Amino acid sequence: MLVACLAGVAGLPARPVSAAGMSIAVSTSTPALGDPVVVEVAANGAVDNLVLRWKSADWPMRETAPGRYEGLIGVDLDDPEGPAVVAAEGFLDGARFHAEAELMVSPRKFAVQELTLPKGMAEFDDTTLRRIEKEAGELSRRFSRVTPLRWRTPFLPPVKEYRPVNFGARRVINGDPRMPHSAVDIHLPEGTPVRAIADGQVAFAGEQFFGGRSVVIDHGGGVFSIYYHLKEYYFAEGQEISRGDRVGSVGATGRATGPHLHFGVRVPGGRVDPTRLLALPGR
Ligand SMILES: [Zn+2]
Repeated sequence: MLVACLAGVAGLPARPVSAAGMSIAVSTSTPALGDPVVVEVAANGAVDNLVLRWKSADWPMRETAPGRYEGLIGVDLDDPEGPAVVAAEGFLDGARFHAEAELMVSPRKFAVQELTLPKGMAEFDDTTLRRIEKEAGELSRRFSRVTPLRWRTPFLPPVKEYRPVNFGARRVINGDPRMPHSAVDIHLPEGTPVRAIADGQVAFAGEQFFGGRSVVIDHGGGVFSIYYHLKEYYFAEGQEISRGDRVGSVGATGRATGPHLHFGVRVPGGRVDPTRLLALPGR
């Protein structure tokens, strides 16, 4: 699907760049909440300093062939519905170019889960709250790192029997609305192997209050995969990891009521549905 709006940026001198010289295409112009979107840019030559602009931030793209580039963005599961714009900017033969595609973010219905838990499981003391906050901060620092693109489509499902549930579920615990569930849960026996969905570098491997034994892999370009409640894991922070490498195995560590893999994905723009990421076709 091609959605092109090709215009030189007003006020810049520069030779005008022929509109036919570049274009931007998106894998869907009507993404739903939680959808990833692949963006492709085509130009009549090599583009310098090319960036993808999405939700007020700039993200890198990768050259796939001469004058052809790709990047990945996403609509966070909590984003507003309605129109949005993704743009590509760079320099072609010394002239700045800007191309943009209009998206229409469509609604998606998420399940509502009402849970009744014993008070001790639903409310935390100050020490625990401080720990939760500190761990969230450590993770968000890692998520803010942008490294060169390592991911490639298709992504590999993290387990052989991929049966995801709960993406985006709105949780009401003992009558209080909580954060939506930003990942999928896959219920599998303890010890089931968990694999890396793409090449990357381990951005976090450690113990978390909610996630238990947790691993986060940085796939570059702002794309991360997240694996929680592991029984064990085999990589340390900073280690290189390849698509299909065994990250660890399914467990019930942290805040889990039984063995399952909590599997999440972050892309530029937010938390997306891992199942939709896995469905992106390979090239
Ligand atoms: Zn979960």
